[in-house]
Amino acid sequence: MRVFNVLAPLGLGALACASSSSDCRCIYGETCWPNTTQFDQLQGQISQPLLHPLPPASPCYPPSDPSGNCTAVNQGWGDGNWRSSQDGAMQSTNWETFTFKNGTIDACYLNTTITKICEQGSVPVVGVDAREPSDIQAAVNFAVEHNLRLVVKNTGHDYLGRSTARGSFMIWTHNMKNITYNSSFVPEGAPATESYEAITLGAGVQWHEAYDAIQAQGRVMVGGASAGGSVGAAGGWVLGGGHSSLAPSFGLGADNVVEMGVVLSTGEYVVANSYQRPDLFWALRGGGGGTYGVVTHVTYHTYPSFPVAAVFFEANTTNTDVMQTVFTEFTRIHPAISDAGWSGYALISSEAMGFFYIAPNTSVAQANATFDPFFTFAQNLTSQGLIVSNYTVPFDSWYSWYTTLFNTTGQVGGNSQISSRLLPRESFENNYEQLAKTLFALPGGYSWNFVAGGEVSRIDPDSVAVNPAWRDALVEVAYGESWDEGATSGEIDALISQLKQSMAAVSAITPNSGAYYNEASLYEVDFQYTFFGEHYPSLLAIKDKYDPHRLFVVAKGVGSEEWDSELRCRS
Ligand SMILES: Cc1cc2nc3c(=O)[nH]c(=O)nc-3n(C[C@H](O)[C@H](O)[C@H](O)COP(=O)(O)OP(=O)(O)OC[C@H]3O[C@@H](n4cnc5c(N)ncnc54)[C@H](O)[C@@H]3O)c2cc1C
Repeated sequence: MRVFNVLAPLGLGALACASSSSDCRCIYGETCWPNTTQFDQLQGQISQPLLHPLPPASPCYPPSDPSGNCTAVNQGWGDGNWRSSQDGAMQSTNWETFTFKNGTIDACYLNTTITKICEQGSVPVVGVDAREPSDIQAAVNFAVEHNLRLVVKNTGHDYLGRSTARGSFMIWTHNMKNITYNSSFVPEGAPATESYEAITLGAGVQWHEAYDAIQAQGRVMVGGASAGGSVGAAGGWVLGGGHSSLAPSFGLGADNVVEMGVVLSTGEYVVANSYQRPDLFWALRGGGGGTYGVVTHVTYHTYPSFPVAAVFFEANTTNTDVMQTVFTEFTRIHPAISDAGWSGYALISSEAMGFFYIAPNTSVAQANATFDPFFTFAQNLTSQGLIVSNYTVPFDSWYSWYTTLFNTTGQVGGNSQISSRLLPRESFENNYEQLAKTLFALPGGYSWNFVAGGEVSRIDPDSVAVNPAWRDALVEVAYGESWDEGATSGEIDALISQLKQSMAAVSAITPNSGAYYNEASLYEVDFQYTFFGEHYPSLLAIKDKYDPHRLFVVAKGVGSEEWDSELRCRS
């Protein structure tokens, strides 16, 4: 494939005369960037050809004579599995762009008429297509030796853009696809009598692959939900906590880890579990992706499969007062439906609301007994213009519910920034009207992830690094702002200002809570407390111990306050 306007003319040339000081990471275009001989030496140590990632729309350029299959690009643009198979793609396209201090945006838009040229933006310049821990070890050693700005990318789903950076060197874990089920897995260093029915996933396994594998064993595991199951099952999801519709039954993803393999910045490959390096093991379970090392695989608990009851509800109206009334009642009932074992997802705006909830080992009659009062409440509002539908469906397994709903594409391929808040049970019990009113006022609606409570709340908050605020929460709410490609930096800034206002309002109504780092905003005022709570000082000490080269730096991650806003130079 030909390369158009990437690399040389990218504005990175402006850096060519600068040389990196030891307090700054070296990026492409600087004199410190490794030369061809040095990259050849690296090539000799790894199993796959070095990658030279390009923005995913690059095959569509130049518009007059596209260099690749632009039809495939258009077809794949909104498909999370297609995007994760592209070494240069993120799932939210804004992270592929770069905004200069003067407001100019470096981008390679799908709409080729906007700038007519494809620019590299924040897409890494060189990468290692890791297949084995030894590939990662070689890449880590190379990054340390040359003081490179390193990124670790798996699927690129990150909402804070943590898996990409302009001018960076990338470790891409996407192709580490090994899956092993072991009905008597003994953690390294554990007594032989301690065994688990466990599944081990390579760092690049995605949820659709993990679910197919565990279903084949007649079992289930705690995992994420996204169109096509494209989120990574053994990367940022679990390292940041990992919520799931099964979390209220079995705990968060981080609560379900038995063991992990990790390459540290020293280049050493280590195992972390309750017996080997328990402090590192603690930090990796919720203390943030891309921070302590590169995880090579994760071993998870699994559980026998079970049937679920599912309820579906949809309401529409142009009367926002009526919708707010429905939403307020919906908010009020959550402590009770949590106690009855329910979980799931909802999308809410001033004119539409829909939810799909499940409960394990629950009959249709039990489901209806729980939800009928709410359905009746909503039906009684039809005279005021509310259009309502609801139904209850039994599924023979969680897997059949999941595949029925999520075997699709979408959710990705747009420009957005979001924020998150963990809504405490206490707010539902003591202040639900004000809570509902504040959320309902958010412009553009919000996602309502009813993935906490139950077992999440019963687990010792200090047993893993996950933000302790999860243990008091019932719901994680996520909301944001989105824009079309080609928007100016001024237009985007205005949307970010709106996002900050929304964040201030939601924080004010839940003052002692926090946010879910994996679905959070770059603009949290006190990110240390908001994302990590009282675990932050311990996490920082563990980071210092296991990352002596301070190689792993991500936006708003543990230790990131040492760095400037581009995470290039120590501030
Ligand atoms: C459509 C969509 C649906 C989602 N659904 C859910 C959901 O159901 N539950 C939920 O909890 N979250 C969900 N998320 C959020 C998701 O957990 C985060 O985006 C998460 O960061 C994705 O991790 P990843 O490895 O797939 O992505 P990446 O963007 O590749 O990685 C994210 C972060 O983890 C780091 N990282 C990745 N792999 C490794 C590794 N092997 N070692 C060390 N660091 C690594 C990266 O450096 C980066 O900092 C969803 C996001 C999207 C866009």
